[in-house]
Amino acid sequence: MSEKLMDAIIKPVAGVGVALAKVPVPVAGPGEVLIKVHKTAICGSDVHIFDWNDWAAQHVKPGMTIGHEYVGEIAALGEGVTGLHIGQRVSGEGHITCGHCRNCRNGDIQWCKDTFGVGVDRNGAFAEYLCIPASNVIPIDENLDEDVVAFFDAFGNATHTALMWSLVGEDVLITGAGPIGIMAAGICKFAGARRVVITDLNEYRLDLARKMGVDAAVNTGKEDLTEVMKQLNIVEGFDVGLEMSGNGHAFNQMLSVMRTGGKISLLGLGNKPIPVDMNYIIGKGLTLQGIYGRKMDTWHQMSYMVQGGLDMSPIITHRYHYTDFQKGFDAMKSGNSGKVILDWTTKKEG
Ligand code: NAD
Ligand code: ZN
Repeated sequence: MSEKLMDAIIKPVAGVGVALAKVPVPVAGPGEVLIKVHKTAICGSDVHIFDWNDWAAQHVKPGMTIGHEYVGEIAALGEGVTGLHIGQRVSGEGHITCGHCRNCRNGDIQWCKDTFGVGVDRNGAFAEYLCIPASNVIPIDENLDEDVVAFFDAFGNATHTALMWSLVGEDVLITGAGPIGIMAAGICKFAGARRVVITDLNEYRLDLARKMGVDAAVNTGKEDLTEVMKQLNIVEGFDVGLEMSGNGHAFNQMLSVMRTGGKISLLGLGNKPIPVDMNYIIGKGLTLQGIYGRKMDTWHQMSYMVQGGLDMSPIITHRYHYTDFQKGFDAMKSGNSGKVILDWTTKKEG
């Protein structure tokens, strides 16, 4: 019997680049769900896979379909799947977890000891169809904008990092105005923070952050952060820090401007170890929390924040048909981009 084929963006060889290819449409096995993909978004880690850095080479097998930020509808249900229906709009948690380690059993799936990433360790979502376990499927309300839901995965990283601490009336510093830092800024304002200050070295991204309503977007290559703090009447230092750059200078600067007793969540992943001035952490009694992925409950928080008026659309800077994926990757690699959306709902002829 001949297999049904579909378009997919794959990692063709162990090296730089990705390619459009024909691959078999997956079949939903017992407990699995087949999703017809509508929209996808390109993540920074997809760019790492494109560039084939050490992390990508350790995880991705050439020939695999990449991508993990998506929204679509259920096309088929595998044997035994209940509580979901064909045609239902869905996204999916991108970490397929073991379900029986201590953290999984405690509901902390983000800390599973044996996690597999969709589009990283197994076939991903940059395709016409994607198959995942039913337990990873996230139903999405019909009134949510699909372009925004397409990047709920990354929005989830921002949400989980930002909502780690109480934000009401607090002054927040975000280091790194990448897409996730900018999303976090919007979340902090929405959640009642007093001042939200974001730093970066990239003017395009700082401008994008201003559109998200930050109180100050500071180019720390040119401006003095402590002066900005004075102007904003931030007297004792920042109460909450969200590290979203993965850059050692940014992190050490954050430590230097935190209030004694401040709280920091760390999302940014650098590609090399970062030297840290421990005197700040100890002397100021800072609390540091590492963040990985997001919790299942984060999906719930995102939907309701958006329905409650949090507008994430300013972060979208580019939209392409999936066959123009190279333009999307070019935009991401230029640094002059927020979220890049790929449309899988229409077939391009020719
Ligand atoms: P990104 O690379 O697009 O953004 C990082 C930003 O930091 C860039 O805009 C860069 O210009 C800025 N930056 C670099 N040096 C700086 C400095 N000295 N001061 C201030 N800003 C500086 O990344 P993203 O997609 O927005 O993701 C944010 C970070 O979170 C990345 O490091 C990513 O690897 C990491 N991440 C972690 C997880 C997790 O589960 N822990 C998940 C997703 C992303
Ligand atoms: Zn587990």
